[in-house]
Amino acid sequence: MSCLFCKIAAGEIPATLVHEGERIVAFNDIDPKAPVHVLVITRDHHDNVAALTHVDPSLAAELLGVAAAIGASNASGFRVVLNTGADGGQSVNHVHAHVLAGRGFAWPPG
Ligand code: 5GP
Ligand code: ZN
Repeated sequence: MSCLFCKIAAGEIPATLVHEGERIVAFNDIDPKAPVHVLVITRDHHDNVAALTHVDPSLAAELLGVAAAIGASNASGFRVVLNTGADGGQSVNHVHAHVLAGRGFAWPPG
């Protein structure tokens, strides 16, 4: 298995976990872009959110639910981002939702 996030989900590469569910795992981003920057992933490998929603929409809903629960603990608001594909800025090809909070975010993004 060569996928970085599959290895994190399997515990083969260390990460600071903030959620460990049966099908979903969340951990702190190694290079945080905000005071709170958590990555929410599926334990099973799916390349991106489009593939995930196609194959397993209930798992996509679960991913979003965990992301929202983590974000909602920040009363001032939060942002959820799912970068997809090269132009979408995706660098790790295992679906992940970024949960960002603890500062304001510009809209539209650059
Ligand atoms: P993407 O650019 O694909 O949307 O996001 C990938 C994210 O994974 C980046 O924010 C990057 O900092 C994070 N990342 C890359 N390698 C690791 C790692 O080994 N551990 C953790 N915790 N995060 C990582
Ligand atoms: Zn993977």
